[in-house]
Amino acid sequence: MSKSPPCRAFIALGSNMGDRIAMIEQACREMEARGIKIVRTSSLFETAPMYVTEQEEFVNGVCEIETTMDPITLLDTLQAIETGMGRRKIIDKGPRTIDLDILLYNSTRFSDRRLDIPHKLMLEREFVLRPLCQLIPNEYPPFSNKPLTYQSYLDFLPPSDPSPTAITPISPGLPPLTPSDPSRKTHLMAILNVTPNSFSDGGQHSPTDLRALTETVRTFIRNGTTIIDIGGESTNPTSSPVTAEEELSRVIPAIRHIRSLPEASNVAISIDTYRAAVAEAAVHAGADIINDVSAGTLDPQMLATMAKLQKSVILMHMRGTPQTMTKLTDYSTYKGDVLDGVASELEERIRAAEDAGVRRWRIILDPGIGFAKNQGQNLELLRNMQRLKGAAGLGYLPWLVGTSRKGFIGRITKVERPDERVWGTAAAVTASVGGGADVVRVHDTKEMGQVVRMADAIYRTGGR
Ligand code: ADP
Ligand code: MG
Repeated sequence: MSKSPPCRAFIALGSNMGDRIAMIEQACREMEARGIKIVRTSSLFETAPMYVTEQEEFVNGVCEIETTMDPITLLDTLQAIETGMGRRKIIDKGPRTIDLDILLYNSTRFSDRRLDIPHKLMLEREFVLRPLCQLIPNEYPPFSNKPLTYQSYLDFLPPSDPSPTAITPISPGLPPLTPSDPSRKTHLMAILNVTPNSFSDGGQHSPTDLRALTETVRTFIRNGTTIIDIGGESTNPTSSPVTAEEELSRVIPAIRHIRSLPEASNVAISIDTYRAAVAEAAVHAGADIINDVSAGTLDPQMLATMAKLQKSVILMHMRGTPQTMTKLTDYSTYKGDVLDGVASELEERIRAAEDAGVRRWRIILDPGIGFAKNQGQNLELLRNMQRLKGAAGLGYLPWLVGTSRKGFIGRITKVERPDERVWGTAAAVTASVGGGADVVRVHDTKEMGQVVRMADAIYRTGGR
C-alpha cells in the first residue's frame, strides 16, 4: 500500500494583537500538533499595516510546510487554529491575533467560494513577498505567464516607508533585535564567569558570593549592559573541561540570584553552555537566551532542547572542541576565504537547528572570533563583517561579536595580561559595531559601554 507523497505548501503567518511573536509561535506548534510538518521558516518582519492603517503594527512571516491534507482540509485546519486562538473578525483586514493564509500548494491553481490558491494578493504584498523570498526567491508563481521570479516581483514593488524590519526577540523585558534597522543601538553583553579558574577577572565570580554578584550586576547595568552572559565553564583553549554537575552548581544559583534582583528585571540573561541539560536548567531558573559556542555540535541533544525551550539562541562558528580548535584553521576548501567558510558552515548549523525545530527568527549568529581561526583570519572577519552579514543564506539574522581580551589582541598590542587588553579590545569593538554587530560581548563594561555609545553615534545613522 503506498501513501501519496506529502504536498509542499507555503503559509503566511501574521499577527497584530497581544504578544505577536508568541501568537505566531503558538500557531506553528498548533500546526505541528495537527500533523503539518514545518520544514523551514522565514524571518519575522514588523510591518506597518496596509489597507486599514489605524491599528497596531503587524508581525509577518512565511513558513514552508509538508502536509498530506488536501487544500480545503488544510484551510479548515488553519481556520480552526485561528478560531481556537481567539481570533474574532471585527472588521475586514483589521486587527487579529493570528492570520494563517495559504499562499501556495505545490504548483496547484485552485479557486472556489472559500479558497484561492495561489493567494490572490500575494504578489502585491511586501510583507508576504519579502519573507517568501528568503525561502524560494528563484521560483516562479504558478499562475503568472510573465517570466518573473518572486525575487523580481519583490524588487519591482514600490519602496515601502517604513520598510519591514526583521525582528528577533531576546527577552520579555527588552524590545527585539532589529538587524536590518540602520539606526538600531548595539547591545552590550556583559560576561559573567562563575568559573574559579577563569583567566579573565572582568566578571569573574565565586559561585557562592552572592553579595559580590549583586554589586557586579548593578555595575553592569549602570554601564549600559542589556544582556548578561553567564558561563560556568571556560572555553579558553588552555582550560580543562568541568562536569555538568559542577557547571550547574556554578551557574544556576547565579541565574536565580540575578532574577531575584528587581533592578535587573529588564536585563536579559544568556546561558553560555554547550550542554543541553545545563541550558534547560538555566532556562527554568530564568535564563532568556541560550548561547552555545558549538552551535549544537558538542551535545546531540542541544538543538532539540533549544527548540523545546523556545528561547532565542546564539549559534557560534567553531570547529572541533575548545581543546582542538586552535589547530583547525584550514579554510582551503573555501579557497582560503575564511568569510566564505564561516558563512557556509554557519548555514549548515542554521539548517540543522531549523530541522530540529528552532525557528529562524530565534537565531542569532556569532562568527566565533578566536575559535578555529588564526590571527589573520580573526582580523579578516572583523574587517569584512558587512560581507558576512550580507551572505546569501544569512540575510536578516542578527550578529553577536565577541573579541574581548582575546589572544590575538594581546599579541598585536603586546599585552600579556588579558585584563590589560582594554585598548585593543576597544578598537575591535568599534570595528564590530562598524561591521554591523547587533550585540558585542565584553568583560570591561564601563569602558566598552562608552566605546559602543561612541561607535553607535558614528555608524548607526540613516534611521527611520
Ligand atoms: P485576509 O485576507 O486578511 O487573510 P481573512 O483571513 O479573514 O482575511 O480571509 C478572508 C477569507 O479569505 C477567508 O474566509 C477564506 O475563506 C478566504 N480565502 C481565500 N483564499 C484563501 C487562502 N489562500 N488562504 C486563506 N484564506 C483564503
Ligand atoms: Mg486569512
